[in-house]
Amino acid sequence: MIEDRFDAIVVGAGPSGNAAAYTMAKEGLKVLQLERGEYPGSKNVQGAILYANALEKIIPDFRDDAPLERHVIEQRIWTMDDSSYVGMHYRSNDFNEEQPNRYTIIRAQFDKWFSRKVREAGAILLCETTVKELLRDSHGRVIGVRTDRADGTVFADVVVLAEGVNGLVGERSGLRPVVSSDSVALAVKEMHFLPREVIEARFNLQGNEGVVIEAMGTITAGMTGTAFLYTNQESISVGIGCIVSDFEGTDQTPYGLLEAFKSHPTIKPLLEGSECKEYAAHLIPEGGYSAIPELYGDGWVVVGDAGQFVNAVHREGSNLAMTTGRIAGETITWLKRRRDAPTKANLSEYKRRLDATFVMKDMKKYRKIPQFLHGTKQVFGLYPQLISQAAQTWFRVDGTDKRSKEKEILRSFRKARTLPGLVGDAFKLVRAWR
Ligand SMILES: Cc1cc2nc3c(=O)[nH]c(=O)nc-3n(C[C@H](O)[C@H](O)[C@H](O)COP(=O)(O)OP(=O)(O)OC[C@H]3O[C@@H](n4cnc5c(N)ncnc54)[C@H](O)[C@@H]3O)c2cc1C
Repeated sequence: MIEDRFDAIVVGAGPSGNAAAYTMAKEGLKVLQLERGEYPGSKNVQGAILYANALEKIIPDFRDDAPLERHVIEQRIWTMDDSSYVGMHYRSNDFNEEQPNRYTIIRAQFDKWFSRKVREAGAILLCETTVKELLRDSHGRVIGVRTDRADGTVFADVVVLAEGVNGLVGERSGLRPVVSSDSVALAVKEMHFLPREVIEARFNLQGNEGVVIEAMGTITAGMTGTAFLYTNQESISVGIGCIVSDFEGTDQTPYGLLEAFKSHPTIKPLLEGSECKEYAAHLIPEGGYSAIPELYGDGWVVVGDAGQFVNAVHREGSNLAMTTGRIAGETITWLKRRRDAPTKANLSEYKRRLDATFVMKDMKKYRKIPQFLHGTKQVFGLYPQLISQAAQTWFRVDGTDKRSKEKEILRSFRKARTLPGLVGDAFKLVRAWR
């Protein structure tokens, strides 16, 4: 394949792999990046919101030429039942700033752009090349990879596993356990195309302003999951995902959930007249802090989704991927400069640096949330229904006095035997949140 020996091999050309490869190549390290897809982004799926801060730390002037769709000026968070939603909306003109904080993007275009930057920085990229396993020396140290190409072995001082949520290379090599079905969500997504002026009128937007909606409730049929709708320039991304183990024993399918979500009376008019041109499905790691595998060893580190780095509460993943990739790249470069071998002891510096960032702090902060959500399915059924009923009772003006309305709302909670449960769950949530 390639005769040469490299300072680092990066497996995968998603945001984490690109961040790692760019960081090392820019500092003059000899980097080989291997991607199984036809081109970077061809296998990747995201909503997608890009968090500028993580990318700014890698490519400060990315706004000059990155393919960005809309900057987000409005966040809507909805809890839905079958006919309504109760929402919290935050919209601010402050988000119309010179260097906006969040953008919608289309991953296939974004990954191609990021990959071009990686190659311009000096890394070599080989696409349509699947890494099958890690190569080890007689002491068990990782010294390279074997790929599916003829003569497909290639050697390096260190291998960065940026292979995404499935993490088959790490799994086959015994570096991490099999990802369990209760720690990953299966998400499906469609792209619906509309003229940009229609999108802007429907969402009250001007120019490149954008709106994003995150939703939960009966739309996931009692399973732990969420749905989303994001505005791009000339399209709308819409998707839904639930924990894989929740599908077991039900007749629900991700596609069926998405169809129902799109038909919801509050979603349907937003997509009216659009043309659906793309459909994709992908896993999302949602096991949280306790699902993070071993992150480094003799000659290897793990970054991004392969390390389960997703903050499911805040719907952040790509920024954690880029940050872990960057920090892994910086650590490897630092060791190289010091002429220190990438041993397990030396690569522990990666984890030490990571612990000081928002990535580990946030993962730790929300460590009890996955368990709370798995154990509190009312959040995805009964509670949204009661909240919606209460809102309807409250807002419907029908000659009933307000004190009677308050009593009616309390009665509906009592009737569902939920009042003590709701209070208990609220306490559990507060405890899990802290
Ligand atoms: C539906 C959906 C919506 C999401 N929305 C958002 C969002 O709005 N904002 C956000 O920040 N995050 C979001 N995420 C999460 C985000 O997409 C991930 O956290 C992010 O893509 C992780 O980047 P990564 O580089 O670690 O992995 P990936 O992007 O999965 O990249 C891994 C790469 O490795 C390649 N690869 C895998 N195995 C091999 C192998 N053996 N050999 C060679 N190459 C290999 C793959 O082809 C792929 O290109 C979403 C995810 C999904 C599924």
